[in-house]
Amino acid sequence: MIMAERTYTIDELLHVIEKNYQNPDKELIRRAFDLAEKAHKGEKRLTGDDFVSHPVAVAYTLAEMGIHLNVVAAGLLHDIVEDTDIEIETLQKEFGDDIAALVDSVTKLKQVRLKGEARYVENLRKMFLAMASDVRVVFIKFADRLHNLKTLYAMPRYKQKRTALESLEIFAPIAGRLGMNEMRGELEDASFSYLYPKDFQHVKAILDVKVREKGAYVSRLIEETENMLGETAVKNVQVHGRVKRVYSLYKKLKRYNNDTSKVYDLIAVRIIVEDVEDCYAVLGILHQKWKPVPGRIKDFIAQPKPNGYQSLHTTVFATDGEIVEFQIRTQEMHDVAEYGVAAHWRYKDPSVKTIKNVRWMQELGNIHKELDDRKQFLDQLEIMKIDLFQDRIFVFTPGGDVIDLPEGATPVDFAYAIHTEIGNTCTAARINEMMRNLDTQLRSGDIVEILTDKNRRGPNPDWLKFAKTRHARNKIKAATKHTMRGWITSVMTGRDRAKKHRGK
Ligand code: MN
Repeated sequence: MIMAERTYTIDELLHVIEKNYQNPDKELIRRAFDLAEKAHKGEKRLTGDDFVSHPVAVAYTLAEMGIHLNVVAAGLLHDIVEDTDIEIETLQKEFGDDIAALVDSVTKLKQVRLKGEARYVENLRKMFLAMASDVRVVFIKFADRLHNLKTLYAMPRYKQKRTALESLEIFAPIAGRLGMNEMRGELEDASFSYLYPKDFQHVKAILDVKVREKGAYVSRLIEETENMLGETAVKNVQVHGRVKRVYSLYKKLKRYNNDTSKVYDLIAVRIIVEDVEDCYAVLGILHQKWKPVPGRIKDFIAQPKPNGYQSLHTTVFATDGEIVEFQIRTQEMHDVAEYGVAAHWRYKDPSVKTIKNVRWMQELGNIHKELDDRKQFLDQLEIMKIDLFQDRIFVFTPGGDVIDLPEGATPVDFAYAIHTEIGNTCTAARINEMMRNLDTQLRSGDIVEILTDKNRRGPNPDWLKFAKTRHARNKIKAATKHTMRGWITSVMTGRDRAKKHRGK
């Protein structure tokens, strides 16, 4: 399957920048392009294109996401230090510290010369390190990897496999955890097509058939929805259809034993409105016209997903009894859903380097030192992989706060996620108003209340048998180490005293 990827000109890049930014510094982008073009002159990619087409494609992706222009400029310059004679000091002088530091970090991220498992571990470690210090570096890396995947057909087979596997196992899940669904979807589909070409073709064919069958119906439904909303007080509504991605459908089909009739969101209708009030108004209007399917109304506005995703979802029996999912959101929610933490820069301070409201990113910052040390990283890796890559559940405090935990987490993990002191003194849990053991596995949507005993001396070492999160396990180990040592010391001194006594 050869898919020649289109190339972009500098004018097309400047055009998308004009569209997505207010008063952009186009001169900066022009200068970065000129240097990249000069530096890479004569170099070709295996696709036959001039090398500079690659950094331009990377910058284009970043500009589409609307990330701070320094990052777009760094995207243009990202291969310069590694591949040409130009030194980081030159970039510093001509483009300033911020852009030079970004290029430097991307360059360091690339230098992984190991093989097999060691390569995987090292890649992961470097990604985590980069994320902990400046998450913008990871955006450049994603855009870089995406373009390399899209031009992978020109590579030898073994490289295709390696790059695709790495992208599916490392890059896509990280993009997902950052809420960058558009990027995750693109990385997944591109990798999937190289790793499992047969499965890819099979699922894509199912999707194509469904789109052909249902496409006309959905177009009519979109029109019907537009007309219906046009008669209400809700203004400036955009209604689109969205087709499920290939890899995402593949995973869902596996869960449902390949029964496509159970997948209701193959094609969904997305409604984008001006504000939150309108989201709920539209939900009400839809339900007046079409009966909702019970149990499928989800309010991710009141209870956002841990990665920040917000929307209202409902599945209805639409015209002619067809079951269709609707997703209702504001433009800002839409940008967050597509670009995740990267959308942050559209609405907030562009100079921010780390994101404060994503719990595990904070955690990553906390263990920065351990990441730096290869051996310590290896010790932490398994548990970290559970924390970051396993499917997440989100449970609630009685006050309605969302706590983000890995699947299989228990009330002990929950207690430590709230506060170390609560973890150390917890004795029992009430889950959805019922008393439960501390090793009960929590499920998404559970409301969990932890009962504590102030007089409790510390955690039970047995909790390590079921505690899932790295955070809880470390706290339990630390606290019990302390008490064990205390206990041993007390026993030893007691023995000493007894010996002295006998000796007398
Ligand atoms: Mn590159």
